[in-house]
Amino acid sequence: MARLGGDTMSASQPDRKPRRFPLQLDQVATVKSAGPRPAPAPQAGSRELLRPQAHLQQAEQDRRRHSTPQGVGLDSIHVRRRMVERLMLDGISHPHVLDAFARVPRHLFVDTALVNQAYEDTSLPIGLGQTISKPSVVAAMMQLLCVRPGVPAPAAGTPHRPLGVCLEIGSGCGYQAALLGHLSRRVVSIERLRDLHLKARANLDTLRQHLPEWPDVRLVYGDGMIGHAPLAPYDTIIAAAGGAALPQAWIDQLAPGGRLVAPLEEARGGTQVLTILDRLPDGSLQHSRAGAVLFVPLKSGTT
Ligand code: SAH
Repeated sequence: MARLGGDTMSASQPDRKPRRFPLQLDQVATVKSAGPRPAPAPQAGSRELLRPQAHLQQAEQDRRRHSTPQGVGLDSIHVRRRMVERLMLDGISHPHVLDAFARVPRHLFVDTALVNQAYEDTSLPIGLGQTISKPSVVAAMMQLLCVRPGVPAPAAGTPHRPLGVCLEIGSGCGYQAALLGHLSRRVVSIERLRDLHLKARANLDTLRQHLPEWPDVRLVYGDGMIGHAPLAPYDTIIAAAGGAALPQAWIDQLAPGGRLVAPLEEARGGTQVLTILDRLPDGSLQHSRAGAVLFVPLKSGTT
């Protein structure tokens, strides 16, 4: 009889309990891996048999019941196409804006607990009291920038960057910066909260690994109320936070033929209105409004 070691038990005494390890081979219980077996009722004085296969099967059942559907569609272009179809129903028609939404995976920018809602038309918390903006509002603002006066229609077969050099105020988690990147020659995106600036940086680094031609997106940690003079002027400026007035620096850094789109608090009631400011080729300014919105407040300084 093969023995595992210096055991004192023998096969001729099968009813006797093993007194110490290692056991003889014929006393080692085998558990077949094909299909679960009911666990034997524990006998008085005997230890419960460990059944690792049963634990693994249970873990697999739990995984199926509780796991988020990552990989079950969120990585798929079809999920983003459905979002694009909804944007079209909301009146977004610019092909490059729609294309950007089809390309950028929004679920990579939200917390794991919220990935199920990543492609709904809703704003979502990104930490520090801030939110990633609603896709339909982001798309509407981007479309307003694309159709500013003087921008030629895209020529067939050529890469089109209708936003030129673009300044974004409020990087947040970096999602909108990634969208803008697909429509711009360069994006400069400023965030005043250091932790969010770092989060945007990490998110865009992840995204960069998925995209063969990474757009020129520069993230800046600083107070967006002073714009970013070193890379000015900007053909387009977009703010994801609203204050009581448009900072003078934004107006100064807007190029002739450029357009700025930002939420602006109304003097009475504090409600925000989407404001469009065009700098005409002769240098003069022209204001218009495009409906009520609700954005987080524009704050000065950095944290
Ligand atoms: N576009 C972002 C949404 C950001 S929410 C995204 O896709 O996730 C608005 C952001 O504006 C917040 O992160 C807030 O911290 C930032 N913000 C507010 N005031 C700012 C300022 N003066 N300069 C830079 N960022 C500012």
